[in-house]
Amino acid sequence: MYIQNGVWAIISRDNKFTFFKSLRVRITVILFFIGMVPCIIATNVVVQSYEDRAVTIREMNVKNQCDILCDSLVAENYLENLDSTVLNSQISLVSTFYSGRVLIVNRDLKVVRDTYDIDMGKTSVSKEIVNTFETGKGSTQYDDENAYILMTFPIKSRDVSSVEGVMLISISTNDIVQNAQSLENGGLMVTVAVCLAVLILGYVLAGFLVQPFLRITHAIEDVSDGFADEAISVPDYTETELITTAFNQMLSRVRSMDASRQEFVSNVSHELKTPLASMKVLADSINGQENVPIEIYREFMSDITQEIDRENEIITDLLALVRLDRKAAKMNIESTDIGKLLEDILKRLRPIADKHSIELHLAINAQVTADVDASKISLAFSNLVENGIKYNVEGGSVRLSLNADKRYFYVTVQDTGMGMDEEQIEHIFERFYRGEKSHSSEIEGTGLGLAITKSVIMLHHGVIRVSSKVGEGSSFHVRIPIEFNS
Ligand code: ADP
Repeated sequence: MYIQNGVWAIISRDNKFTFFKSLRVRITVILFFIGMVPCIIATNVVVQSYEDRAVTIREMNVKNQCDILCDSLVAENYLENLDSTVLNSQISLVSTFYSGRVLIVNRDLKVVRDTYDIDMGKTSVSKEIVNTFETGKGSTQYDDENAYILMTFPIKSRDVSSVEGVMLISISTNDIVQNAQSLENGGLMVTVAVCLAVLILGYVLAGFLVQPFLRITHAIEDVSDGFADEAISVPDYTETELITTAFNQMLSRVRSMDASRQEFVSNVSHELKTPLASMKVLADSINGQENVPIEIYREFMSDITQEIDRENEIITDLLALVRLDRKAAKMNIESTDIGKLLEDILKRLRPIADKHSIELHLAINAQVTADVDASKISLAFSNLVENGIKYNVEGGSVRLSLNADKRYFYVTVQDTGMGMDEEQIEHIFERFYRGEKSHSSEIEGTGLGLAITKSVIMLHHGVIRVSSKVGEGSSFHVRIPIEFNS
């Protein structure tokens, strides 16, 4: 059976017993125990103290009666005169009154009086009787298992110097035990009634208590099914507030991710369409003319090739970025000589720099071997150096320096180019962002280079900072941990 009401299920679809997973059931069970345990304890305490008190009172009463009787026995010299009718009837009276048995034993441990007439004339060497003879003091014992009180009283000589006999009385406490039993039964009934009431009330109340959680579930379901769009609010408890706040934060994060994904897709489409549009215009204009000389064809075809190259460049950059974006971007970490890596980058880019008469310098101030993904890091620094060349002036320079301390290595890429203003710096790491000058001065680029660089540095748990002044140049400062911790 599977019952789904958003709160609990007796047996889940995969047949696992999930009844006790329900908060409602757990609250009910807790309330049940909270109701049951005190009832049981209270019943036991009441019954026990009743029994103790009743036995004590019974003992006191019997003791008083028997003390008086013993005094009479001594006064009348009963042990010498066993036929005393008055004393015998007093003994019988005590015995009947307490529904017990009275035995009188003389010095020779012989039973001289037994209200049950069973042990008359027999010798009694019970521990209690012998003790009373020896100590001259009476004793009291309560046997709760067999429900009787056993008491002994010394019958002393008239001058109180010796013990002449012992009176032993055993009284039944059945009435006390019965009273205790009926008290216990009453307590049990109250306990059962309380437990039942707690169970029913607890289940109903627990239903109310978990209502806000149900409302959260419904609100979240509405959002995920697309029926609701706003932040959810269930302020009934601090806990529900915490859950809804966390959910709303997650929702707004998901939304902003969705928005940036949409923006990214529209940027990508736009960027990819631009070269295509140029190619179409070029192709249409040749097609629209008749008898076009071969030179014009060549010129247009070379323009179309340029646009294809640009399209290719954008796609290559996009692929690089998408690969880096994947959460599980596979990092191929290896111990790498960073100085050598920078030298290789400069060697590769020197021909392009030479074209624009730009000097490339490298200052290795520390020998650094770091745990990095060499190809990704190489791509990141190449982008910085390429930008240093692209956005430079004829005859300018790009200076790289490498430094390190115990935990990090630092790379600075400094150029003498056009520089950037504050507003531009804020956006340069965004995808497809290109500075105004980059557009107008026809410097080639996709606007993805710095986004790629930043992603790579972040994957290495590093940071990148920029300082720049318009007309004077820019410096990119990178700090990356020498040891890679995933
Ligand atoms: P791209 O170079 O392809 O345009 P980037 O992401 O590498 O894309 O750079 C984004 C923008 O940042 C560039 O268009 C340019 O305006 C600015 N920029 C980047 N590096 C420099 C630099 N060294 N000097 C001046 N401006 C720069």
